[in-house]
Order: sequence, then structure tokens, then C-alpha cells
Amino acid sequence: MIRFALRCQRGHEFEAWFRSGDAYDDQVARGLLACANCGSGAIEKALMAPSVPASTRTKGKAVDRPVPSAPDSFGTQLPAGLVEVIRKVRQHVRDNSDYVGDRFAEEARRIHYEESERRGIYGEATIEQARQLRDEGIEVHPLPKLPEEAN
Ligand SMILES: [Zn+2]
Repeated sequence: MIRFALRCQRGHEFEAWFRSGDAYDDQVARGLLACANCGSGAIEKALMAPSVPASTRTKGKAVDRPVPSAPDSFGTQLPAGLVEVIRKVRQHVRDNSDYVGDRFAEEARRIHYEESERRGIYGEATIEQARQLRDEGIEVHPLPKLPEEAN
């Protein structure tokens, strides 16, 4: 069993257990997943990104700030200022990071232990993977999602 951090189109975050990654894909494809808060069927895995250690920052300032995550109570309306911050953070991550998909935990670990080129990455991780990374001193956090990205 694996547990994924999920997020619906309205930004509600929740966790769900699946037999496997394939079981998750299958349930999404068949429309069997729904948000526990609002019932929306537009569900995706929350993307995770590691915090960049202070000593290795090379450019940009967006990573200096903690990444805001949208509280459940926002619904579809995020304050304009917050949307702008989220947009900039996400753009910064996309411009400066490699998408590594479900190899996220493995790559974050390799970079942390300097077995892989030091760079920004983002991708998908299970709750368990995120917890293990944190146990090893590798901070990861979910990337906030914009309401306009809902489909
Ligand atoms: Zn929802």
C-alpha cells in the first residue's frame, strides 16, 4: 500500500491509500477518485520540491521564502496577492528545476548526498517518501497549485 498526497481542482489537499501507483492511475482514469472536501473528481498528485540549502543557492530569490500552501478554506477564491506569489514561485521552480516525476525521492536523495548534480528538481512523491526524506534531513514541500490550472 502506498499513500499519495492529492489535491483537487479547488486546492483541497488530502491523502489516500492505493495498492500501487498503477491502482492510483486506474482509479483516476475511471473517475473513481473524488475530493473528500468538495466531491470534485478533478484530482491530481501534489507535486513536491525540495528546499534548497542556503549555501547552495546560486540565483533567484523566490526560493528564499517559504512556499505558501493554500489552506482548505480558500475554495475557488484565492487572494490576488497570494495568487501572484504562487505564480512566481511555481514559475521559478519550472524555470530552474528539472521535472523528475516519480523518481523525485530518489533524485532528491542523490542530490542531497552529492551523488548527483546539484540542481533544483520537482516531481511526485508519496507521503511516506516525503517523510523518509525529512527524516534524513532533506526538506521537501508541496508546490502550491493555481486555481486557473484546474480543468
Ligand atoms: Zn476539493
